[in-house]
Amino acid sequence: MATRGFIGVLTLASILAGGFAWADSATITTPDGVLAELLAGNTRYLEGRSQAHNLPAARAGLAAGQAPAAAIIRCADSRVAPEIVFDQPLGDLFVCGVAGNIPTPEIIASLEYSVAVLGSKLIVVMGHSSCGAVDAALTHRHDTNALPGNLPALIDQIVIPCTVNSDPKDPGALDAAIACNAHEGIGGMLRGSQIITDAVKAGTLKLVAGVQNLKTGRFTVLK
Ligand SMILES: [Zn+2]
Repeated sequence: MATRGFIGVLTLASILAGGFAWADSATITTPDGVLAELLAGNTRYLEGRSQAHNLPAARAGLAAGQAPAAAIIRCADSRVAPEIVFDQPLGDLFVCGVAGNIPTPEIIASLEYSVAVLGSKLIVVMGHSSCGAVDAALTHRHDTNALPGNLPALIDQIVIPCTVNSDPKDPGALDAAIACNAHEGIGGMLRGSQIITDAVKAGTLKLVAGVQNLKTGRFTVLK
């Protein structure tokens, strides 16, 4: 972002000179600026104007280091790809994935690295429509132990805050639980990390939750 162009624009002069340089987006230095760029990238994606082409020259430059402007907690769902949905190139998003996009201790530790070492200014909890993990939490809200393998321990983290009192027959129950689960991710990060809490208090980091609509591709920030 401040250190490399967030939208991944290679300057023509630098290419002709035999090297490359990311256009300096010096104006995007705030958490709100990073969020605005992600939402602008989502609009480009929606309109078929994606710009993140990930040129070979950029790959070589990234080998020297990274400074991702934003970190993401995404669901493991194959239809959720932050780099595509936000139209960002390699090196600009620090993406952590787990089914149900929940802030497990390992995810939080990864985010702490992104914030404290790499300088990320924004963390996005990226829920999505038709989430199977949240659907399982809704369906098995009273009997997660019926789920196979290691799933109960994961799904329990969604059930307790977001579905234990839900009625699955309510047509809006799944969408409500998905939004609740994404929003809960913010509280989970603050409870689980002094590093993240301190950065938020200092104004150098912003936490937002939102939901990607799989049909439209639109990412909506939750209020
Ligand atoms: Zn999901």
